[in-house]
Amino acid sequence: MFVYADNAATTKISKTALDAMMPIFENYYGNPSSLHTTGQEAAEKLLEARESVAKNLGAEAREIYFTSGGSEADNQAIRTGAILGSRKGKKHIISTAFEHHAVLHTLNKLEKEGFEITLLDVHKNGIITAEEVKNAIREDTCLVTVMFANNEIGTVQPIAEIGAVCKEAGVLFHTDAVQAAGHLEIDVKKMNIDMLSISAHKFYGPKGVGALYCRKGILLQNLIEGGAQERGKRAGTENLPAIVGMAAAFDEACNNMKENGEYVSRLRDRLIEGLSAIPHSVLNGDAKCRLPGNVNMCFEGIEGESLLLLLDSRGIEASSGSACTSGSLDPSHVLLAIGLPHEVAHGSLRLSISEHNTEEEIEYIIKNVPEIVEYLRNISPVWEALSKGEMKHVI
Ligand SMILES: *Cc1c(COP(=O)(O)O)cnc(C)c1O
Repeated sequence: MFVYADNAATTKISKTALDAMMPIFENYYGNPSSLHTTGQEAAEKLLEARESVAKNLGAEAREIYFTSGGSEADNQAIRTGAILGSRKGKKHIISTAFEHHAVLHTLNKLEKEGFEITLLDVHKNGIITAEEVKNAIREDTCLVTVMFANNEIGTVQPIAEIGAVCKEAGVLFHTDAVQAAGHLEIDVKKMNIDMLSISAHKFYGPKGVGALYCRKGILLQNLIEGGAQERGKRAGTENLPAIVGMAAAFDEACNNMKENGEYVSRLRDRLIEGLSAIPHSVLNGDAKCRLPGNVNMCFEGIEGESLLLLLDSRGIEASSGSACTSGSLDPSHVLLAIGLPHEVAHGSLRLSISEHNTEEEIEYIIKNVPEIVEYLRNISPVWEALSKGEMKHVI
C-alpha cells in the first residue's frame, strides 16, 4: 500500500487546477501588460483569478497581490509593517516562538536592523491567547504577526480575537495563513486581518505561487523593484498559469471545505486514537483546536528519521521534527516551543492527511507505526536505559 501523509509539506496538484492551467500554457501566453489582444486576453484571466482568490478570502480584488509563494508573502508583509512603523518611530514587533522560518528569519533580520522583537510563548497546547497579545502591545508596537495554523503541530490560533485586539490598539496585524487557507474558514474583514499570506501548493495548487492580501489603505512596500505589475508593488511578469491554477485550487478547496473537513477530522481522530495506544507516546498540540488533517506525536526512545525511513519502506510517507529533518543539530523549534525536552522532540512524527486518504490507509498506518516503534525501541540504548529504570520516562 502507498500512503501519502505529508500534505503539510506539499500537496498533489488537483485535476481541477491542472485543467485550469493547461489552456493558459497553450492559448494565453500573452504578457498581461501588453496592449494587444493576446496580452489583454491574458490580463482578463489574471483579473478573474484575482477576483476569485479575493472572494474566497472576503477581500476585494485590488487587495490581492500575487507572489512566488508563502515565504515571499510573509517577507513582504512583515517588511511592510516594519517600514511603515519605523517611519512613525515605532520599532517593536510581536510574534510567536513557533512561526514558520519565513517569518522568524525575517524577524531575526529586522532585529539586527534595530527592531525589537517580542516572541510570545505558545504554551504546552500550542495556542496563544488574544489577551497575551494585548498585554504585549506597547506604544511603539508597529506590527503583530501570528500564524493562523501551525505547520507542524496543526494548532489553530484565535485569529479573530487577535485581530480585534490589534484593531482596538491601532496596530497592523499580519497572519501567515498558509496552512489554514483552503482548510479553515477565512474572512479577512470579519477577522480584522490587515495582511494575510497564502501558498497554492498547500491546497492542491501548483508550487511557486502564492498571494498576499493587503488591506486597502496600507502602503504595501516592495521587495522586488521593476515593472508596474501588481499595482506597482511586486515587479516581474506574472506567472499566469500558476496564478490561474492557484485560483482554481483555492476555489475548489473553499467550496468543499466543510465536507472535506468533517471527513478528514474523522480520519485524524481515528489516527490519534490508534497511535495513542503506543506506550510512552504523546499527541503534540491541542487535540481539538487543530487542523483537520494534522496528527503530530512523539514516541519516547526513538529517532524520528529512523521511523520515517522505515515507514517509507512500507509505503507510508510522513515527516518529522527531529534534528536531521529540521536541517540543524536541534530538533524543531516548534516542538521545543511547546516545552518538549530535546530527547522527546527527536522522536516526533507528523502525519498530515487529506480527503484523498482512505479509512484503509489510516488503518494501515495504525498497524505499521506501532510495529516500527517497537522495533526501533528494541535496538535503542536509550530505550534499554529507560526500561531498566536507569533513565526516567518523560512521557
Ligand atoms: C509552507 C509554508 C510557508 C512557505 O510557503 P512557500 O509557498 O513554500 O514559500 C510559510 N508558512 C507556513 C505556515 C507554511 O506551511
